[in-house]
Amino acid sequence: MTTPGSTPDFETLGRHGDVVIVGGGLAGLFCALKLAPRPVTVITAAPLGEGASTAWAQGGIAAAVGEGDTAESHAADTIAVGAGIVDEAVALGLAREAAPRIHDLLGYGVPFDRDLEGRLAVAREAAHSARRIVHVRGDMAGQAIITALTRAVRETPSIRVLEGWSAEALLTEDEAVTGLQLRKVGAPSAPVLIAASAVVLATGGIGHLYAVTTNPAEASGQGLAIAARAGALIADPEFVQFHPTAIMVGRDPAPLATEALRGEGATLINGAGERFMPALHPLAELAPRDIVARGVFAEVAAGRGAFLDATQALGARFAHEFPTVYQSCISAGIDPATQPIPIAPAAHYHMGGIAVDEHGRSSLAGLWAAGEVSSTGAHGANRLASNSLLEAVVYAARVAEDIDARELRASNGRFDPAQRPRNGAHDAAQEQSLRTLMSGKVGVIRERSGLSDAVRALAKLERCAASPVLANMAIAALLVASAALARTESRGAHYRSDYPAEDPAQAKRTITTLAEARERAATLPGGAVILPFPTQPQTALA
Ligand SMILES: Cc1cc2nc3c(=O)[nH]c(=O)nc-3n(C[C@H](O)[C@H](O)[C@H](O)COP(=O)(O)OP(=O)(O)OC[C@H]3O[C@@H](n4cnc5c(N)ncnc54)[C@H](O)[C@@H]3O)c2cc1C
Repeated sequence: MTTPGSTPDFETLGRHGDVVIVGGGLAGLFCALKLAPRPVTVITAAPLGEGASTAWAQGGIAAAVGEGDTAESHAADTIAVGAGIVDEAVALGLAREAAPRIHDLLGYGVPFDRDLEGRLAVAREAAHSARRIVHVRGDMAGQAIITALTRAVRETPSIRVLEGWSAEALLTEDEAVTGLQLRKVGAPSAPVLIAASAVVLATGGIGHLYAVTTNPAEASGQGLAIAARAGALIADPEFVQFHPTAIMVGRDPAPLATEALRGEGATLINGAGERFMPALHPLAELAPRDIVARGVFAEVAAGRGAFLDATQALGARFAHEFPTVYQSCISAGIDPATQPIPIAPAAHYHMGGIAVDEHGRSSLAGLWAAGEVSSTGAHGANRLASNSLLEAVVYAARVAEDIDARELRASNGRFDPAQRPRNGAHDAAQEQSLRTLMSGKVGVIRERSGLSDAVRALAKLERCAASPVLANMAIAALLVASAALARTESRGAHYRSDYPAEDPAQAKRTITTLAEARERAATLPGGAVILPFPTQPQTALA
């Protein structure tokens, strides 16, 4: 074993109460605030307020706070959308804790919209049986949440924030987490180590693994990969939700036209001006996301194009009621009050993640996870709109409570020296190849041969990538592709054109490991890997 105590940067960054939270989105910041006055260190790849999906959330948070609505009804909608594999107790627990967490957020200064009588205003979203989305100035919920929490964090002396640092590996000894390996984002630099008795991963999702996504570049699956490399159990990685209405104006990430627009009556049409959803589902535009995404995908694939038309439903009200979407369109020369908006499906939300229990504990001692990087069982095969911010805030609070109730043993800062870093330069062309591969072969519609190609190519990239970020991206992508190959049915957001029906025998969650994904890749029959990935193995990652 190696003691890294002599590393100067380790001395600089280490020891601040020994609770280290990775991520500055809703899950990370809320967890840090709930732990106060206990000292914690928050590490974020981007400056606070940036590089987090939370800041971009437009709809809001699902909470059964409207008149006549109940937590039971909210849970029932969550279970129905999750396609047979939602953990029902988890869904109910989530719905029941929504109201107290909304009140916490109000306490931190989030200005949720109110009706004329001063009650929280609630909006309708797809597949919710009641109006239950708490929002801020129409579509500004995410920005308002991140602004309020950032201010609260900056005013809390027990929270130390290290901005511009990326976590690239967990340090472990005897299957317990002892710290993290970090690196400064930007200019090439050596990795540094930070000791921790408790690590909370709140690193968000995996959208950036795909060529078309609504997620920030920081959502590249780093947290998922580093937990998997350390041996943590991973749940449901094959379930990736594609948002049906990303605005196609040549931007990466693609701006989002919120679901609430369809809630307000906007319709989906093809290039000929025909509505295509009524033929596909009784709820038409308000059908579950996966069905809408496939409907949009089919129109685009057939060359007819797909558009969101709010000209009748909103018209001149558009600018005032959906200012963010309005600006995205106007800056690309489209006036959504008078013109249909060009759209396509984009990788949007990961239902899978680090498997956690009801306290947010992972399978590794000393490691918790909250928010999109985790998988609690609440979403099953498909997420109900606006349940993700809810899950992030509920589990962040539970993680804080669980950590706070423990006597944490001070980390000895020791780790298994087999965990050596890679130091090669990042190859942007390989990153783009990975993203194109994921969109093409592990995307909205999947099938065996494409998935097999993807698994083989990603396993190779994982072994050979020179940069730690790219290696982690390959690992996260491999977990998704491998589980998608193993699930020989269609369920929720996972659609296999070679197995288009649900198989009742497979109505259970996937619990897997990186070792299993590597094994699946190794046992696939050979075949040419046609991607421009490197061929010489670099230093092995644990
Ligand atoms: C455009 C858009 C709209 C959405 N709208 C809604 C909505 O209306 N309602 C809803 O419920 N959900 C919505 N979602 C989903 C929701 O926003 C996310 O699931 C949720 O915000 C995730 O919160 P989080 O704290 O887990 O992650 P994030 O908010 O993504 O934060 C992750 C943090 O981790 C940091 N990070 C990542 N990797 C590393 C690393 N290796 N080292 C250090 N830091 C790292 C990032 O920089 C960031 O600070 C939307 C998502 C998008 C993209």
